[in-house]
Amino acid sequence: MATAVVAAAGSGERLGAGAPKALVPLAGRPLICWCLTALGAAQRVQRTVIAAPPGYEDEIEAIAGQTVPGMPFTVATGGETRSESVARAIAGLDGSLELLIHDAARPLATPELFDRCIERLEHWRCDGVVAAARAVDTIKEADAGGRVIATLQRGTLWVVQTPQVFQAAPLLKALSEGDLARATDDAQLVEAVGGDIRVVEAPRQNLKVTTEQDLRIAELLLADRHT
Ligand code: C5P
Repeated sequence: MATAVVAAAGSGERLGAGAPKALVPLAGRPLICWCLTALGAAQRVQRTVIAAPPGYEDEIEAIAGQTVPGMPFTVATGGETRSESVARAIAGLDGSLELLIHDAARPLATPELFDRCIERLEHWRCDGVVAAARAVDTIKEADAGGRVIATLQRGTLWVVQTPQVFQAAPLLKALSEGDLARATDDAQLVEAVGGDIRVVEAPRQNLKVTTEQDLRIAELLLADRHT
């Protein structure tokens, strides 16, 4: 069983909605509700901690209570960067052995994906697992001037998402020693301290809402799911 940490403290500047991204409406309810419902339905998630945007703790608490009345949860105040938000949310926890981190900005993650990632961590007994989709585009590395340095081998490339699930001890060590401001996911912090991280194949549809267009795509995918 895992404790879920929902990173929901982003400002959502790129969405231009004038409100934190987690509260932007998606298919009739705040964005954060979609992942909370899925976490509430996952069999291997026992409780949830939500990193809320500073000043929005009460609103997030009310939304979570209404969305998943049966799920034990707490709300923490988020930090300046995503990793700081995760670190703050985890700081108040004790006794959790497995921690599942998920971005509120990924509304299409399913209970099945959460459960599968937790099951894989337990099966492989590694330090962490990351949900990831196989790269479908060819990916090149270029310098600041746009000059191509390398074409990467697509067959070995994965586009990494959340959920990411970790044994608590290596994640806590990584968060206390790592460069939180530069990290773009949690796994790279654990990798940096020598952790064994593995990928769990996940659907490309588990997209991250960043722009207005992503909101429309997510809405279409959710509508598809319910027909
Ligand atoms: O900004 P980006 O889309 O990469 O954020 C990914 C996730 O991290 C979002 O769910 C966002 O709410 C969260 N986040 C956070 N604290 C921050 C910045 C982002 O919890 N300071």
